[in-house]
Amino acid sequence: MMIMMAPGATPQQIDHVVTRLEDTGTVHAKVVPGAAQVAVAAIGDAAAVQQLGLHSLGGVDRVVPLSRPYKLASSELAHHAPSVVDVAGRRVGPDTFCIIAGPCTVESPEQTLRVAQAVAPHASMLRGGAFKPRTSPFAFRGLGRPALEILADARAATGLPVVTELTDVQEAEALAEAADVVQIGARNMQNYALLEVVGRLGKPVLIKRGLSSTLEELLMAADYILKEGNEQVILCERGIRTFETATRFTLDLGAVPWLKLHTHLPVIVDPSHAAGDRRLVEALARGAAAVGADGIIVEVHDDPDQALCDGPQQLHARDFAGFAAGVLAHAALAGRRPARGPGA
Ligand code: PEP
Ligand code: MN
Repeated sequence: MMIMMAPGATPQQIDHVVTRLEDTGTVHAKVVPGAAQVAVAAIGDAAAVQQLGLHSLGGVDRVVPLSRPYKLASSELAHHAPSVVDVAGRRVGPDTFCIIAGPCTVESPEQTLRVAQAVAPHASMLRGGAFKPRTSPFAFRGLGRPALEILADARAATGLPVVTELTDVQEAEALAEAADVVQIGARNMQNYALLEVVGRLGKPVLIKRGLSSTLEELLMAADYILKEGNEQVILCERGIRTFETATRFTLDLGAVPWLKLHTHLPVIVDPSHAAGDRRLVEALARGAAAVGADGIIVEVHDDPDQALCDGPQQLHARDFAGFAAGVLAHAALAGRRPARGPGA
């Protein structure tokens, strides 16, 4: 249920509604500020909310049902403009297009810095895995904590905010110190304990759609982060499992306009893991821009043939400038400017 407060409702009246809801013990209350009116989302036991008779309390305008299974991520909640996630001045949202670029995995300080410097003139943020969730336990699983220092050095050298994946709650605090955006990978989209921990870290979160997850499941996963009070959440479509094996995954570009209708959160696309083949990545990235994505996350390596992970899908660093120009041209047609630098 959504309790719409009357325009001009006082803070005391809003607090009173929140207290009444939380005193039930079965309802989670969240205040949602809006341009004209404040709303209080009441999530949980709808029957308990109804019994409270909140419509007759001072300052309450009306009580509206929230019909979808996801709540805080729902566009039903956004009676204001779509959310913008601000990462060190790079705004991820409806007017901009953000390009997050970098290696699949941090392999060495030199490799990371070379790639960071190659992408810096054209990218909004730097990606790079320190902790890699690998299908086989015998594959390279990342350098771990030393990689966080390498990423921090690359940020200092280039000014690019850093996006890196958290796979284990034990690493949460160390990772949050180094990262500007904490990534939750596809394999952990439904790791609910991890989602609650990132919800409390106070850093923007990039959550990727699970390999076999529905969009409703993605939005309910986002709810786990949002309910901890972290509103800085970016969603990522990265391809799903279908009967088709020609591409590594099937990129669901229809997910982007569907998500735009159903959630207020920004949506980006990962063309690299979807394609599994660098020759397809630019076409998919242009497609993402054309269907209204707020950005992309793309893998780039200075020597992909020698990469320790995902070599075939990583773009050559030398090709990155042309790639970014092509994708940003499509983004411009969709009415977006590059998300670069403070305030952009
Ligand atoms: C990644 O972006 O490094 C990654 C492992 O992707 P995904 O979680 O989408 O497989
Ligand atoms: Mn990868």
